[in-house]
Amino acid sequence: MNTFARLRGVWRDRTPNILPPRHFRCLPRDLVAIAVSLPFMAVSANSLAAEAGGFASCLERLRPDAMAKGVSAATFDAQTAALAPDMTVIGFLDAQPEFVTPIWDYLAALVDEERVADGREMLSHWELVLGRVEKAYDVDRATVVAVWGVESNFGRNFGTRPLLTSLSTLSCFGRRQDYFRGEFFTTLKIIQEGHVAPERLTGSWAGAFGHTQFMPSTFMRLAVDFDGDGRRDLVDSVPDALASTANFLRRAGWRNDLPWGFEVALPAGFDTAVAGRRNRQPMHDWAARGLRRVDGGDLPPGATPAALLLPAGEGGPAFLVTRNFDALYSYNAAESYALAIAHLSDRLRGGGPFATPWPTDDAGLSRAERRELQQLLIERGFDIGEPDGIIGSRTREALQMVQREFGLTADGRAGQKTLRALRQPR
Ligand code: CA
Repeated sequence: MNTFARLRGVWRDRTPNILPPRHFRCLPRDLVAIAVSLPFMAVSANSLAAEAGGFASCLERLRPDAMAKGVSAATFDAQTAALAPDMTVIGFLDAQPEFVTPIWDYLAALVDEERVADGREMLSHWELVLGRVEKAYDVDRATVVAVWGVESNFGRNFGTRPLLTSLSTLSCFGRRQDYFRGEFFTTLKIIQEGHVAPERLTGSWAGAFGHTQFMPSTFMRLAVDFDGDGRRDLVDSVPDALASTANFLRRAGWRNDLPWGFEVALPAGFDTAVAGRRNRQPMHDWAARGLRRVDGGDLPPGATPAALLLPAGEGGPAFLVTRNFDALYSYNAAESYALAIAHLSDRLRGGGPFATPWPTDDAGLSRAERRELQQLLIERGFDIGEPDGIIGSRTREALQMVQREFGLTADGRAGQKTLRALRQPR
């Protein structure tokens, strides 16, 4: 089962409607590698001028709509006076992932030792705030910190695109202009209400911003002022961000008396047709079918609804997941994403890696290993920029060349086999 194939589908989850379609959110930026269609990357001077003219008249048309949504004339005029469109965001809107990322690559980078160590440090540093957040929203601290770690690498990576530029462009060009106009007007209201200063509002191409990477509309519904300064600030207030994440999960149905789920062992000959996040069965039914915890222990007693997940199909790790997994899923509609958060939260609580290996003989790389691989490519003379751990097109092209040289499958994928080969002295 390829969870990533479904990422490109439209949003159709039954959990509360608090997020836009998945493809308007960004993958965690550590993993971003999508092809932006070339026409938007190489616009001519003529088309730029035409776009600028179209953009100015578009903003004029949007002005009364913005007023109707509660944006003042003063705010609109002040914040749009110097705006120019950024057509590269339209390329992202239409981009498809360059290739399918295997789940073991996705998790190797999102739940690596570095993020576990950073997360434990954050748990300790923000202990008092997290204790208060836990009490106020009844969402456990390891889960809140895991979301933070995956969304913005604990506040280190918010995205650098000015929200007003991206969202005004998406309001005037490309698909889904109505949706993005709502986000644009909401961004103006966030500024008007003084929550976040406009120059601090940078984020993903689609407008997700801050520690929690909320879209502006999600901010309006779910962000909270937890440090008591009267502003809901998801950019410069960690307490506001942690509490807002907990509030999101709470509203998405989180129940602190349940685990998100756990790894299970399937009995021999098990019919995996019953797998799927939406096929919830009482826990005792799964026990009756012969499922056990992966350490051999019995499943929890009772009728708690749970679903069986097989993220890599048969032969890989299997999980029973509860409604809490769905709450994580609603943060960013991908099962691989929810599993990364869930697994990171377990690791932060002291848990170990999954017991069942992924069905591959070429495991994925941590971010440290990705940087090492890039450094080794640079030492071989490849011009791939800084070793930042992000596997982009230049790194992949270089990988294909060395993979051919090594007699490995020349797919440009950064895996353990290629790293091991690169480590060999020449
Ligand atoms: Ca605040």
